[in-house]
Amino acid sequence: MRYVSTRGQAPAVGFVDAVLAGLAPDGGLYVPETWPTFTQDEIAAFRGKPYAHVAAEVLSRFAGDELPRDAVDAMCEEAYATFAHAAVVPLVQISPDAFVAELFHGPSLAFKDVAMQLLARLYDHVLAGQNRVQTILCATSGDTGGAAVEAFRGRAHVRVCALFPEGRISEVQRRFMTTASEANVRCVAVQGTFDDCQAIVKAAFQDQSLRQAVDLTGVNSINFARIVAQSVYYFTTAVAVGAPDRPVTYCVPSGNFGDAFAGYVARQMGLPIARIVVATNANDILARAFQDGRYARGDVTATQSPAMDIQSASNFERLYFEAVRRESVETARAFTAFAEAGHIDIPPQAQAYMAELFTGVAVSEEETSRTMLATLNETGELIDPHTAVGVAALRRAGDLQGPVIVLSTAHAAKFPDAVAAATAVTPDLPRWTQSLADRPERFDRLPADADAIKACVRAFAET
Ligand SMILES: *Cc1c(COP(=O)(O)O)cnc(C)c1O
Repeated sequence: MRYVSTRGQAPAVGFVDAVLAGLAPDGGLYVPETWPTFTQDEIAAFRGKPYAHVAAEVLSRFAGDELPRDAVDAMCEEAYATFAHAAVVPLVQISPDAFVAELFHGPSLAFKDVAMQLLARLYDHVLAGQNRVQTILCATSGDTGGAAVEAFRGRAHVRVCALFPEGRISEVQRRFMTTASEANVRCVAVQGTFDDCQAIVKAAFQDQSLRQAVDLTGVNSINFARIVAQSVYYFTTAVAVGAPDRPVTYCVPSGNFGDAFAGYVARQMGLPIARIVVATNANDILARAFQDGRYARGDVTATQSPAMDIQSASNFERLYFEAVRRESVETARAFTAFAEAGHIDIPPQAQAYMAELFTGVAVSEEETSRTMLATLNETGELIDPHTAVGVAALRRAGDLQGPVIVLSTAHAAKFPDAVAAATAVTPDLPRWTQSLADRPERFDRLPADADAIKACVRAFAET
């Protein structure tokens, strides 16, 4: 299986190189040259199988002969053994034909764990083979940093340096990063915003002298291995409610569009998905794109679902590439123009292609709070604000072809203030994470200054 860039100016590479590179050298995103597929019988055979088994089937289709099958099996076994639920991604019913898929039973209580736990094993396996140590540099608005630290702590071939905006993430989110005691983890509280952190990471990646000294890598949501890992739970949850004999609809709380795009991937592989409702908060760039055919950046507004406070959804480039029939020249033109002018007018044919599968719905803060309360009253389930955006979109999207599965992307206890404000109930952390509050924290405090942080990364990589 070869991987090509959406912008067409980079050579095709194998799976391992696509994963280690993250972004393609021409600024595009890697996608497989052709989509691997499962037959309907193969999909039906996933019913009742362990999650790790389905994950290994999906991953090996994308890795081809680059990873030995026994290594793939071992990685998937290990990655999903870290989850606190035997089903890994269990379903909870919330109405006669609607279910919530709980993606938050991993070590940092957010759906990022599903991909990150697998990515950590994949990196360690590949880098050990190349006798190489890489340093992951990531900026986090909350969940990615915790998931990366939990996944990569103590690994022999990877160091993690996570930058977070001081005072702008919840205490639980911070503690998932800062209480790791392993020497290969370094957390930095940056005196600035998430955007400052992202700009510093970008500057570090563009600094050739730093890159000669430090083998830097990223694990953000454009990494294709994350998309592969996320397509797995579409298969496991769909077959649990009757696929492939009946098509399934998904509601996906969305920010960078990685999670929803993984649903598109599952469908390309043969899973009968009737519709994917892309649910956003007030940061509605995706909802507007699917409604109006205009992908246009807006100002970022802070909401109670901060992991989705994003106004430029990096994975949208992959869908655009597909929708313009893989015209890389057109994709490069559109996204270069977007970087400069902040908008793309989606060609009518591409818009029609997207509309066959995707519907966009934006949900207000008030509706999000109301949905947390209504869900508690109707089902006894406490849901977090991100999940509430998905459930609200389900209520609003009208006649969906059932069954409908809402992806629940975080545990309610990760956002206790918003949940308590909406429902008057304070969610408890699961028992196995309660020691989080007692463990000592360890992090550096630095100004939002690229040079200071680059020096810190350099020193860390020499340890
Ligand atoms: C990252 C995240 C999302 C958004 O997922 P995308 O793949 O970026 O669309 C939603 N909810 C939570 C809790 C997250 O951490």
